[in-house]
Amino acid sequence: MIEYLSLRKISEKYEPRLSSVVDEVVKSGTYLYGERVAAFERGFADYCGVKHCVGVANGLDALTLILMAYKRINHWSDGDEVIVSANTFAASFLAVLRAGLKPVACDVNEDDYLMDASLLESLLTPRTRAVMPVHIYGALCDMPYILAFAHTHGLKVVEDAAQAHGATDAEGRRAGSLGDAAGFSFYPAKNLGALSDAGAVTTNDDELAAMVRVMANYGSEKKYYHTEAGINSRIDELQAAVLSLKLGYLDRVNARKQQIAARYSREINNPIVATPYRGKACHSVYHVYPVFCDRRDELQEYLLQRGVKTIIHYPIPPHAQPALRQVLSGANAPHTEFVCRRELSLPSNTALTEDEVSTIINLINDFR
Ligand SMILES: *Cc1c(COP(=O)(O)O)cnc(C)c1O
Repeated sequence: MIEYLSLRKISEKYEPRLSSVVDEVVKSGTYLYGERVAAFERGFADYCGVKHCVGVANGLDALTLILMAYKRINHWSDGDEVIVSANTFAASFLAVLRAGLKPVACDVNEDDYLMDASLLESLLTPRTRAVMPVHIYGALCDMPYILAFAHTHGLKVVEDAAQAHGATDAEGRRAGSLGDAAGFSFYPAKNLGALSDAGAVTTNDDELAAMVRVMANYGSEKKYYHTEAGINSRIDELQAAVLSLKLGYLDRVNARKQQIAARYSREINNPIVATPYRGKACHSVYHVYPVFCDRRDELQEYLLQRGVKTIIHYPIPPHAQPALRQVLSGANAPHTEFVCRRELSLPSNTALTEDEVSTIINLINDFR
């Protein structure tokens, strides 16, 4: 059986150092707010090319805290609007709701499945405050266009970079440094993954970084003095130590995933299975390698019968989810719905061998 992703095999690649890092944290006696968190925050800020990184508990919190902090700093009102890329994991939308704001779904381009920036104008209202491009599958949205639009209209740009660790634009700038702020997830399956939940906010905005830190610490700067109605959202020493170790290998992980993607894109030649668009200068880090097929469910079952596990990202778009349907009623996102009907994610990780990649390619090419 070829697993979609075996976290056990991924962890094995970092041994014996991974276990010794864990052991060191256990023996250190410091589990929260220690030097390992500070070192990871410094390291990840430098990696992304920004001034600040604030470690938080997960990706959903990272996005939520950015919006809570901007809302507080800029005096946004409850129900003010954030335009969110519709082809995404539900968390992008849930973050907006949790911050007391209103998400507005923006459909994606027909070719690359990223935010269709030409729709922003039509979604703009007097209450629009921010735009959230989602770098889905590891590919960057059209940030120059989105930033120009946002800055013309006085909007903040919050990158959902939860799938795009290390993705670079045409000038070599990394995800997390392209908007006003970015939310990252270090969920174990991400390109940079912890051994549990973890996340981070990156930004060059001093005031935002300080406010996120306060908001994530019960709204308190000084212990037992609460200036904001905050939450508890922190990264712990263990995850920070693990992430610092793995950060040193992130470029290699991404390069390997890009190599596998290049093989899939070159060698999959079944006319009924489309490979991802590669027309733009964005260097995807292929958190996910998606293929698209009208008979997606049959293809998934066919691969499973022959020992290959795949995943669908995502079977139901956020705006059609029972929890979000009400808030997003009227959302018009036909391209996103098209993706949800046809997308299938192939195994794309550093535990995969060349032989396994060949097996997957041959099976797909034989699918009738
Ligand atoms: C993983 C993910 C998140 C949420 O991250 P968690 O750490 O699981 O909370 C948000 N947005 C996208 C696009 C993601 O893939």
